[in-house]
Amino acid sequence: ATPTALLVGTGRGAQLGILIKGPKVLESTRAVDTVVLDKTGTVTSGSMTLTGVHVADGEDEEVVLRLAGALEHASEHPIARAVAAGAAERLGTLPAPEDFAGLPGLGVQGVVDGHAVVVGRERLVREEARELPPALAAAGAAAEEAGATAVAVGWDGRARAVLTVSDAVKPTSREAVRRLRALGLRPVLLTGDNAKVAQAVAAQVGIAAADVHAEVLPEEKVAVVRRLQEQGRVVAMVGDGVNDAAALAQADLGLAMGTGTDAAIEAGDLTLVRGDLRVAADAIRLARRTLGTIK
Ligand code: ADP
Ligand code: MG
Repeated sequence: ATPTALLVGTGRGAQLGILIKGPKVLESTRAVDTVVLDKTGTVTSGSMTLTGVHVADGEDEEVVLRLAGALEHASEHPIARAVAAGAAERLGTLPAPEDFAGLPGLGVQGVVDGHAVVVGRERLVREEARELPPALAAAGAAAEEAGATAVAVGWDGRARAVLTVSDAVKPTSREAVRRLRALGLRPVLLTGDNAKVAQAVAAQVGIAAADVHAEVLPEEKVAVVRRLQEQGRVVAMVGDGVNDAAALAQADLGLAMGTGTDAAIEAGDLTLVRGDLRVAADAIRLARRTLGTIK
């Protein structure tokens, strides 16, 4: 391999909006046959809006928004931004939590106005508080059926509400999947979100239902990548979140969205500067072509 050819590839990459960490990346790209795509923030815009507030009997909507909004204000997750913004819009300023912990892939937990509050997956609220009342569970299920994401809110040992947030598929994602397929690559969708939302997104962008892995915890994302590698696949992974960092490092080629978190960018081998998924296909084609000129 002539170093000049590799440098040309790297320079062209910068023009396309691809930052390559080192010329070695170009070599690992050649054999890639599978591209694992994170959903939230990668295939979808990641900018969600609060679309519904369902409270249990006897609960006050404003109190729910105050406690959940205050806690989510301390988190950078797209769901958290939607909840905090929706709450602030209704209530003005929110209190600062007295205690806060982010639980990657699950939700957030902390203390607001003296209450031990939890916001996140139904499973988390069930464990930390209690089972959701049937009416709340039904409201969440109906929202998910429609492609929204439902998160539960609980405090002081009780499940109190379900909030729904919606996120749109990026207008460029369908074309990006088409380009990846045209290169002979198999697209796979990987997400911590629920299966209904994941399947709705997969159908919109043209990913096969059998290639969807949903309700996957951050540490399990690595395992999904590893399993594909054990099956003999050479895997590229595209992600944006803190929860994608380990999987990006495990993949044969890690592509980080430039619009994503620092953790993802540090873990990736290259960065798609503008956060345009179509450029993932361009990057792989560029690497193949650059290697072609060396051969
Ligand atoms: P993705 O893999 O699609 O980027 P995550 O792994 O970040 O999703 O999150 C998985 C699930 O955990 C979310 O769909 C949500 O139910 C829950 N969750 C994670 N973080 C939060 C948060 N800050 N607030 C509420 N729910 C959260
Ligand atoms: Mg993500």
